[in-house]
Amino acid sequence: CGIVGYIGNQDAKEILLKGLEKLEYRGYDSAGIAIRNEEGIKVFKEKGRIAELREKVDGDVEAKTGIGHTRWATHGKPSVINAHPHTSTSGRFTLVHNGVIENYEEVRTEFIKDVQLTSQTDTEIIVHLIEHFSNEGLSTEDAFTKVLKTIHGSYAIALLDSEESETIYVAKHKSPLLVGLGDDFNVVASDAMAMLQVTDQFVELNDEEIVIVTKDNVTIKTLDGETINRDPYTAEIDA
Ligand code: GLU
Repeated sequence: CGIVGYIGNQDAKEILLKGLEKLEYRGYDSAGIAIRNEEGIKVFKEKGRIAELREKVDGDVEAKTGIGHTRWATHGKPSVINAHPHTSTSGRFTLVHNGVIENYEEVRTEFIKDVQLTSQTDTEIIVHLIEHFSNEGLSTEDAFTKVLKTIHGSYAIALLDSEESETIYVAKHKSPLLVGLGDDFNVVASDAMAMLQVTDQFVELNDEEIVIVTKDNVTIKTLDGETINRDPYTAEIDA
């Protein structure tokens, strides 16, 4: 399973699909992408191979920002509905997740009992919890940070906010995730291999960090809000 993300000036869907193809070796049962343009966020997902997802993606939709996912089902059977990305009730937040949220039942009961779920995944809880904290008045960064302090388990997450076209929010805990740096774009990937198509400059992320990725900047912060400076390294792998 794996995650990719792109924010820049090029055709995001093609970069995401190519990235997901590079992650196929990790194993998966379904896949999906969310792309963002002026009209909002559009989600495409499919059970089975990336080739089948590729056929489902509307080639005419242009977007320069997006996230993608290959799923290895842990909660809920492999299906289109359970495939990621998952979206909050209002449609504002969309995210992809690798890993397992161990306390998703408790989180659901404590915070979002009344939310109608559409999938059987543990993942869907995360996106509703972000919307819940956002509805309480928190900024997306603060809502996401609060969610990261509330959920337990393993995760790599990439999040889109339809009200903030310029940003991908990212975090990890016990699941791999890297940020890749480009000229006028930045990327996210579980494995550098997925994004060697566009860059060989990567920054490692640690657990307990929140990362704010725009096309010109990557800001890494601790969950207590302290900004971290970390140098990139050059990935030396044959694409
Ligand atoms: N636990 C999540 C699910 O079952 C994510 C699985 C994965 O890592 O792909 O949907």
